Amino acid sequence: MSESNRLRIAIQKSGRLSKESQKLLKGCGVKFTVNEQRLIAPSDNMPIDLLRVRDDDIPGLIMDGVVDLGIIGENVLEEEQIERQDTGKPAQYKKLRELDFGGCRLSLAVPNEFKYDNANSLEGLRIATSYPNLLRRYMKQQNINYSDCMLKGSVEVAPRAGLADGICDLVSTGATLEANGLYETDVIYRSKACLIQSTTEQSPSKQALINKLISRMNGVITARESKYILLHAPTETLDQIVALLPGAENPTVLPLNDDTNRVAIHAVSSEDLFWDTMEELTALGASSILVMPIEKMMG
Ligand code: ATP
Ligand code: MG
Repeated sequence: MSESNRLRIAIQKSGRLSKESQKLLKGCGVKFTVNEQRLIAPSDNMPIDLLRVRDDDIPGLIMDGVVDLGIIGENVLEEEQIERQDTGKPAQYKKLRELDFGGCRLSLAVPNEFKYDNANSLEGLRIATSYPNLLRRYMKQQNINYSDCMLKGSVEVAPRAGLADGICDLVSTGATLEANGLYETDVIYRSKACLIQSTTEQSPSKQALINKLISRMNGVITARESKYILLHAPTETLDQIVALLPGAENPTVLPLNDDTNRVAIHAVSSEDLFWDTMEELTALGASSILVMPIEKMMG
């Protein structure tokens, strides 16, 4: 395989992580156009190629050092790592950071008519799953015997189809479980999307590009989690008002024209401001409250 000077980033081709992964990279200033027919989307303003693949392939591509960076759900990453450790294949990667999307949990669920008291109720069941390794690790910790039924998809219909007694599958809202007459019993793994890097040593120029991307990504994600807040406040309740703004310890306080009893506050808050807080602020005499999104942050 030829060594490329271009940084290769694997992202999911289509599915729950693909749009967010593309949006994050675009937010970091990486320009590219996706052609649905093509595996590779080259960036036209940075030495970066995006590889659009099935999410199951991303951990292996990183662990084999075939691509440099990847955006992947921790559930798929951990499942593949256990598999590779058990079969003696390369299983190393560096986790650069957790991302702010792709949140879900891997849970055990059983039909509504099944009587569940505790994890021991699962003894001897047949469980359908796409995550046999994470399931085995959990059942071993709990000391429960079971048999598994490996399904790559449609896991939630396995009990009704008579293929299994219960399932171990990804859940976010629980609506799919409910629609299939199942209920959640044990959460066995909580997952988010993350950015990973291969452990292969990078050339200084590639590593510098990776560092730049990480720093921009930190800026994009912090900005998404933050709000810019402007308001007018009576000077006598200033401290109480500032205390209500989450993570805005050092706001800018400016005088107002012709009003010595009130000041303007400009602050970056580390969280959104909810209606309840806005109402508490007005109760303290705050007025002209503006909450605005922030596009980018640095330094
Ligand atoms: P591919 O075709 O790439 O193999 P897939 O069908 O395996 O796609 P998706 O359903 O698109 O995968 O899910 C990708 C990842 O999104 C999951 O592995 C998980 O990390 C995350 N995710 C977030 N919420 C959910 C959910 N409710 N159900 C399934 N996955 C979720
Ligand atoms: Mg998949």
